[in-house]
Amino acid sequence: MDEKPLLEVKNLSVNFYIRHGVVNAVTDASFKIRKNEILGLVGESGCGKSVTALSILRLLLEPPAKIMGGRILYKGEDLLEKTEKEIREIRGKEISMIFQNPLSSLNPVLTIGFQVSEPIILHQNLKNDEEVKRRTVEILRQMGIPEAEKRLKEYPHAFSGGMRQRTMIAMALSCNPSLLIADEPTTSLDVTIQLQILKLMRNLRRDVGSSILLITHDFGVAAQLCDTIAVMYAGETVEYGSAVDVLKDPKHPYTKCLLRSIPRIDVDIERLEPIKGSVPNAMNLPDGCRFHPRCPYMIEDTCEKIKPEARQLTEGRLVRCHLYGR
Ligand code: SF4
Repeated sequence: MDEKPLLEVKNLSVNFYIRHGVVNAVTDASFKIRKNEILGLVGESGCGKSVTALSILRLLLEPPAKIMGGRILYKGEDLLEKTEKEIREIRGKEISMIFQNPLSSLNPVLTIGFQVSEPIILHQNLKNDEEVKRRTVEILRQMGIPEAEKRLKEYPHAFSGGMRQRTMIAMALSCNPSLLIADEPTTSLDVTIQLQILKLMRNLRRDVGSSILLITHDFGVAAQLCDTIAVMYAGETVEYGSAVDVLKDPKHPYTKCLLRSIPRIDVDIERLEPIKGSVPNAMNLPDGCRFHPRCPYMIEDTCEKIKPEARQLTEGRLVRCHLYGR
């Protein structure tokens, strides 16, 4: 695996200025994705994962959003310094995104064929309509859409949930992106379809050599697919490392609590430990460590007062917690 990062997010910070105040959606997100690597960005809803992803593609509406600081280096160049024209060239061609909800992300009044061929027309130098059609059918077939050619004229309502999700993936993959951002791609799908989607993403990495940023709240999904994991809590990356290290030997108390709260086949359901409390309001974040009101390992007089910095424990392993030295 090439060690040079394809994408590096460094200390990203994003606020939303709304009528009731300032939402600190992301305050310090940092992680790297190398070529051919799958990184899982994991955390509960409201931790800033999707805002981080949308910032990479510069898809946040400004205002109310405002990128306050940090860098997003793609192939060594800062995406935050690109003009709108330059970023449009990258979006869809080099970096594409599968959005959370395939139902609302596909246009209900445009045919599947039109929607899948649009990015192909925009980003691939194909000579004529026949070639565009051939490529569109080919990508739908690769996604396992049965009778792909016949289905080009159908509208999204005629597709099942799984087929719509696979169509979204087809659109995202139609230009063989270097980086695919997949935001909860298997949420609300049944288990069989979930497995198909995960397999498709694995094949994408194998056949095209793409890197994938997988956003999920599900450690089970991350365990099946990811090489590295970044755990986010209240807008910050709190733990980052190889998937094996993070899953087998979690260091941050939030990661430990998350792993203890998920059902496992070998663990009695009564022994699951839900995390107490909920993710803090991003308009009113706690002082000190943001996880301290929920943390079973909290150090009195330290964690509620002093904000922990991210520390490198070993090569490629970062943790933001006072338990690991001050
Ligand atoms: Fe828990 Fe303190 Fe570590 Fe925060 S810094 S996770 S409160 S032990």
